[in-house]
Amino acid sequence: MTDTDQYAVKQEPYYRPVGDETELFEAAHAARMPVMLKGPTGCGKSRFVSWMAWRLQRPLVTVACNEDMTAADLVGRYLLDADGTRWQDGPLTLAARIGAICYLDEVVEARQDTTVVIHPLTDHRRVLPLEKKGELVEAHPDFHLVISYNPGYQNLMKDLKPSTKQRFGALHFDFPEAETEAEILVHEAGVDRTTAERLVQVGQRGRNLKGHGLDEGISTRLLVYAGQLIARGIAPGAACRMALVHPITDDPDLRDTLEAAVDTHF
Ligand code: ADP
Repeated sequence: MTDTDQYAVKQEPYYRPVGDETELFEAAHAARMPVMLKGPTGCGKSRFVSWMAWRLQRPLVTVACNEDMTAADLVGRYLLDADGTRWQDGPLTLAARIGAICYLDEVVEARQDTTVVIHPLTDHRRVLPLEKKGELVEAHPDFHLVISYNPGYQNLMKDLKPSTKQRFGALHFDFPEAETEAEILVHEAGVDRTTAERLVQVGQRGRNLKGHGLDEGISTRLLVYAGQLIARGIAPGAACRMALVHPITDDPDLRDTLEAAVDTHF
């Protein structure tokens, strides 16, 4: 027996809604419609899922997908132990059995043949065939599949198959508008409102460089990091360089541009 309690979200995570995502997700959940959260990294997708799991009182099983992931990593495999072989459910199978929200984070990172294992779970069948074990798992009525997907990383080699995409309703996420993002920084980093607003301005400068040498702008997550350093007494300039400038570029010109933006605001 699995201890489902360990997958419960026991305390309310802090999440600041930015639009109608809450009611849309709730309706999709009620319909058990698989949901795709689209948006850049560090904009609040994972936080939103854990908050929804808490609101809906459902266990949450999260899988960070990567390119080495195989279908067995999702569905399970036989393991050898002292008594012989033993089947071990993978996280997707576990979530289907216990009726969890299963969040496959950055699913596009996984190889396409891996992604295909979710197909029978995402249509009216709601089943998961464990071919190696010869078992057909029928998903628990509460099972709900959620994936995240960053269109910014998209290239021809790495995109979801249309047959996969067409199985999901999609919610579009982006960095919050300035006022909201400042509010998030005050809460998450513990900085004062003025510092939060300045950090947001630096972030917006970085986001304007997207496509001009930067693949991704400065995320809310990085702004939170910068704020956390400042809240611990680090000078804002040094905090911004560590959290906002150096992680996102190796290009000296871009670094100078971003550092100039930091110096303008702090
Ligand atoms: P993603 O899953 O999109 O990569 P996360 O959900 O991990 O990003 O968000 C990164 C961080 O940004 C969170 O840990 C949180 O501090 C902050 N954050 C972003 N958006 C919000 C929001 N709407 N409410 C609360 N925190 C947020």
